[in-house]
Amino acid sequence: MEPLKVEKFATAHRGNGLRAVVPLRPGELLFRSDPLAYTVCKGSRGVVCDRCLLGKEKLMRCSQCRVAKYCSAKCQKKAWPDHKRECKCLKSCKPRYPPDSVRLLGRVVFKLMEEIPSESEKLYTFYDLESNINKLTEDKKEGLRQLAMTFQHFMREEIQDASQLPPSFDIFEAFAKVLCSGLIKLQNNSCSLSSFPLVYFEQTTCSHRCCEWKGSSAVCQKVSPSEMA
Ligand SMILES: [Zn+2]
Ligand SMILES: [Zn+2]
Repeated sequence: MEPLKVEKFATAHRGNGLRAVVPLRPGELLFRSDPLAYTVCKGSRGVVCDRCLLGKEKLMRCSQCRVAKYCSAKCQKKAWPDHKRECKCLKSCKPRYPPDSVRLLGRVVFKLMEEIPSESEKLYTFYDLESNINKLTEDKKEGLRQLAMTFQHFMREEIQDASQLPPSFDIFEAFAKVLCSGLIKLQNNSCSLSSFPLVYFEQTTCSHRCCEWKGSSAVCQKVSPSEMA
């Protein structure tokens, strides 16, 4: 595999960042990654494909949960490894549907439980994310507690106790992380949530379009001098 052209670094007050470790040409691709997990937001559910996020008039419905929808049999097949476990949870909570952040965190948990770390964890893992718990107001904390309870209820088909969660995983803290830094709308159709780790790209005060979303992937590129003007 090609060595990475960027490395991570931490700052005292501005969180984490990425910096180049080799000389770069303008337009050069530095890093590309799929998010650790993403999900279609409520407003776009049934309008865009759960896998590729593209809109289509007629979408195929998952015959099990009847919630997830896909543009093609190909997308449905590709989505199955990530959908398999949440499918049971979605089916069991019908006719209700969980808040977007709950469905998203469910997908994060299933991903973290996989034996092979995903490609997106090469630079940052979920455990590197800031939660900023000590900066939260009591109201916000109460909101997170409610979400944590909803999460446990939503996941009960697949996860009944803490031993079935990733090691040292705290649901309350995980929600703080998702809400603090892991939750962003994908640019292409503003309908999906993404956790990770490329939120760092989005969060930098970068106005040079060096980091952007393409489909469901984040792409980081060196900009040309003219774009910097
Ligand atoms: Zn699709
Ligand atoms: Zn399903």
